Amino acid sequence: MKIGITGGAGFIGSTLAEELKDEHEILVIDNFSSGREENVPEGVEILEFDIKEEGLAEYLEDVNTVFHFAANPKVNTFPDDREKDFNENFVGTKNVLDACVDADVGDIVFASSSVVYGEEAEIPTPEDHRLDPISMYGATKAGDEHMVQVYGQTFGIDTTIVRLANIIGGKNPKGVIYDFVHKLDENPEELTILGNGKQRKSYIYIDDTVRGILEAWKSDKSVFNIGSEDSIDVDGIADIVADEMGLTPEFSYTGGEKGWTGDVPEMRLDIEKLKSEGWEPERNSAESVRRTAREVIERL
Ligand code: NAD
Repeated sequence: MKIGITGGAGFIGSTLAEELKDEHEILVIDNFSSGREENVPEGVEILEFDIKEEGLAEYLEDVNTVFHFAANPKVNTFPDDREKDFNENFVGTKNVLDACVDADVGDIVFASSSVVYGEEAEIPTPEDHRLDPISMYGATKAGDEHMVQVYGQTFGIDTTIVRLANIIGGKNPKGVIYDFVHKLDENPEELTILGNGKQRKSYIYIDDTVRGILEAWKSDKSVFNIGSEDSIDVDGIADIVADEMGLTPEFSYTGGEKGWTGDVPEMRLDIEKLKSEGWEPERNSAESVRRTAREVIERL
C-alpha cells in the first residue's frame, strides 16, 4: 500500500512516516516551511510541494491513503496571521482534497485540533460537542473538517478526522515546553509566563498520539479526540521544566487568563471513543511534559 503524508517533514507527520515505513511505501509531501529534511526517515520518498498550489494529483496516482497533516501549526499568532491560516489550512486542504478526487485516492486522514471546540466547551469535551472556534486557526480547522466530510460523502472517500490535544515530544521545535527550556537556557534566573499560569490543558506524548492516529484510521468510525486523560496548568509545566534543568527561577506573568488572543484557558478531551477501539495513552500530561522537557534539554 502507498501512503502520502502532507506535512511529512514536520513533527507529527515525520513520526507517522517513521511508524508506517516498514509496512508501507511512503511519499512525504512538504514545502519545508517549518518541516526539515532530516526529520524524514531514510528511504522515504520526498516530494517538495506547496499545497497552496494546485497540481498535486499527478503525484498521487498510485497513492491509497493520504494523511493530511500540513498546516500553519502556529496557534498563537492570531489575529495577525489570518491570511496565513486561511491559505495554508483552508486553501491548502481544498487543494489536497481536489487532488485526492482527481487521483482516485479513496482514503483520507485529517489532522484537526481540540481548538475547534472553543472556550465554552464542557470538560472533558466529547466528539459530538458543538464546534465553536475562537481563532482563525480553529475556524479553518473546523471548516476543513466539514470540507473533508463533504468530499468524503460526495466522492465516496473514506475519512478519518483526529482532533488532537497538545502533542509534545523533543522533536517539536515549538510550544510551551520548547519555549520555557530555551528562555531558561538564556536566562536561568527568571521565566516570563504568558497569561496567569493557570491555563490548564491536556498534553500527550508523540508516541501515544501516533498509536492513537493509527488506531483511529483502522476503525470504521470517522471522528476521534486524541489527548491524555488529565491536564496540567502552565505553572505545573514551568515547575517540571525548571526541575529538569536544575533551576529555581522567579516566575513572572504577562497576566490575564489567556496566553494570547484566541487561546483557550482550559482544554481536556473526552477520549472514551478511541479507548473503546482499544487505544489508551501510556503517559499522563505531567509524564509527557517531563519526558519532552528532557528531550528538548538534550537537544540544546
Ligand atoms: P509541524 O509544523 O511540525 O508540521 C507541519 C508540516 O507541514 C511542516 O513540515 C511544514 O513544512 C508543512 N507545511 C506547512 N505548510 C505547507 C504547505 N503549504 N505545503 C506543504 N507543506 C506544508 O506541525 P505539527 O505539530 O507536526 O502539526 C501537524 C498537524 O497536526 C497540523 O495540521 C497541525 O495543525 C495539527 N495539530 C498539531 C498539534 C500539536 O500540538 N502539534 C495539535 C493539534 C493539531
